[in-house]
Amino acid sequence: MKSYEIAVIKGDGIGPEIVDEAVKVLDAVSEKEGFRLNYKEYLMGGCAYEAVGTPIPDITIEGCRVSDAVLFGSIGGYKWDNLPREMKPESGLLKLRKELGLFANLRPVSVFDELVEASSMKPEVVKGVDLLVVRELTGGIYFGEPRVNDGQKAYNTMFYTKDEITRIAKIAFDSAMKRRKKLCSVDKANVLEVSRLWRATVDEMAVHYPEVEVSHMFVDNAAMQLVRDPKQFDVILTGNIFGDILSDEASMMTGSIGLLPSSSIGGIVGLYEPIHGSAPDIAGQGVANPLATILSASMMLRYSLGQERAADIIDGAIKSVLKDGYRTPDLANYHAKEVCSTKQIGLVIVDRIKRV
Ligand code: NAD
Repeated sequence: MKSYEIAVIKGDGIGPEIVDEAVKVLDAVSEKEGFRLNYKEYLMGGCAYEAVGTPIPDITIEGCRVSDAVLFGSIGGYKWDNLPREMKPESGLLKLRKELGLFANLRPVSVFDELVEASSMKPEVVKGVDLLVVRELTGGIYFGEPRVNDGQKAYNTMFYTKDEITRIAKIAFDSAMKRRKKLCSVDKANVLEVSRLWRATVDEMAVHYPEVEVSHMFVDNAAMQLVRDPKQFDVILTGNIFGDILSDEASMMTGSIGLLPSSSIGGIVGLYEPIHGSAPDIAGQGVANPLATILSASMMLRYSLGQERAADIIDGAIKSVLKDGYRTPDLANYHAKEVCSTKQIGLVIVDRIKRV
């Protein structure tokens, strides 16, 4: 029987609650499809700081490195807000991404038909939205040197090499080939040199993907177009800072932050996590929505383990459960027939998978 090693990082706040449900769902689907997942748990975040005095122990990085994929919940909490920067839970995650070479962040945004009214945007604008933001994750202005703040002046450096642009563009083009074959590259080429290199490199790459329809958009226009007519987009390719902002904007179309998965890929091993944080305000109450984490587990099966059919089964089970009106409290106002706890909705999904 084919088996895979999965590094599991539950993290802080609601992390353990939502990851537990994703693992149950993974167990159900792997049993059905005839493969085995061997899990090893590692510490990261505030819980790691409490246990061993650092937000990311070396054993966590090593364990992830030798695994087939990493499933991650969330980190952070008020308790650790005033620690020095390198001891904060978030530093653990940044270090892990860097150590694993995860330069590409993929955030799919699909609006479930049953939840169009949960969006803060008009139902007719968001119904049918299905887009993917491909964001460069380890370069750009967040990492560029020099960076200075001497109290009188401050600056950061937006920096990309052609190689960095080429490798993220390749991931976006390959993703577009598996989707509707449309790619919109977002930059600020009317002002920034780095964006002009970005645009020229994407155009060079386009020659190798004649089936993909390529367009370029300035980031300010893209921010506006995402709200005006999001259905025009299939794959959005962009750099670190623009992707950070646009993917959060796009995420709100779905109605709850608890519905959005993500994957970080391109390095030694892929890391899969919901886009939300550790939600300390609801931690331990059994009300967190685990769907973003379960959808992240589905992405893990699809992108890192090549178990496409198992991923389709999970995605289908989630759709059918939402269609039948099962909702966690964050979505209770939208056609709920039954409001469920975190564990209950996990069980309903497992049950659907067993019955497929
Ligand atoms: P958050 O995403 O944790 O929470 C924002 C709001 O959304 C809260 O009201 C929360 O209850 C709600 N929410 C989030 N996930 C939910 C879910 N699955 N189901 C139902 N409701 C959900 O953002 P925040 O409050 O700004 O940050 C809390 C902590 O999380 C901070 O320490 C922050 O640094 C950290 N954080 C971690 C990550 C990560 O682990 N990747 C990402 C973002 C923030």
